[in-house]
Amino acid sequence: MSGRWRATGPARPWPAAGAALLLAGTAQVLPAGTWLPGPRCALFPALAGLGRPDHVALTFDDGPDPRTTPRFLDALDGLAVRATFFVLGERLAHHWDLGREIVRRGHELAVHGWTHDRPWRPSPLRESRRLSLAAHLVAQAYGDAPLWYRPPYGILTGDRLAAARTAGLRPVLWSAWGRDWTSRATARSVLDLLLRDLRGGGTALLHDTDREGAPGCWRAALGALPGLVAVCREAGLAVGPLGEHEVTRGHRRGARLIGGGPSGPADPRAR
Ligand SMILES: [Zn+2]
Repeated sequence: MSGRWRATGPARPWPAAGAALLLAGTAQVLPAGTWLPGPRCALFPALAGLGRPDHVALTFDDGPDPRTTPRFLDALDGLAVRATFFVLGERLAHHWDLGREIVRRGHELAVHGWTHDRPWRPSPLRESRRLSLAAHLVAQAYGDAPLWYRPPYGILTGDRLAAARTAGLRPVLWSAWGRDWTSRATARSVLDLLLRDLRGGGTALLHDTDREGAPGCWRAALGALPGLVAVCREAGLAVGPLGEHEVTRGHRRGARLIGGGPSGPADPRAR
């Protein structure tokens, strides 16, 4: 595993997520995906994936998908960029070789859950069992214990937070997205939306599959990648995985926007 970005030693504590846990204690469902990006970044910077100001974390959710993930791996190779892939345990079990290929190409594997479902009713044992199973499978593919957990739809509950703590995972969401899961998404729209909220220290959310989105929407995310990386590099920002992002370390409030413009409301349909 030499030459990889991966931090050694025990996982860092997650104070912001701890605060979220307290919040979740008063409300079973914490619909993090519906928060305004600004307040989420200000109140829970670690949960929003804010890190060192000279770096942007690139993350992909919902894979692995043999129809689409290899295209993203090739594009990332062409751009000389490494990223973090939040995979589903069930999909990783079905596409084990592809999960291993993501790792072989130098990317970080993280946990998106076992399946892509919503927590309709409290079920702490079920949440814990399934998340631990997913984390165990990801660890086998990754060759090391994963650090990160991003729940489907960005919905955190007390059960999910407790399950993450049991599995040794740090919850992390995002600070900018491109709404690449919609039928109307284009490479241009995805890039414009990302750049609206993205700044140094931010975490970008994309998807390497359309399994949870509109058919074919992955093309918009894939098409946005070259522009995203170019704009970041022109702004003097490196692009890489969360493992190199130093989440909550070195973030300066008020870091410059990359693309300019105001922050808009979050979309509860986040995948
Ligand atoms: Zn998802």
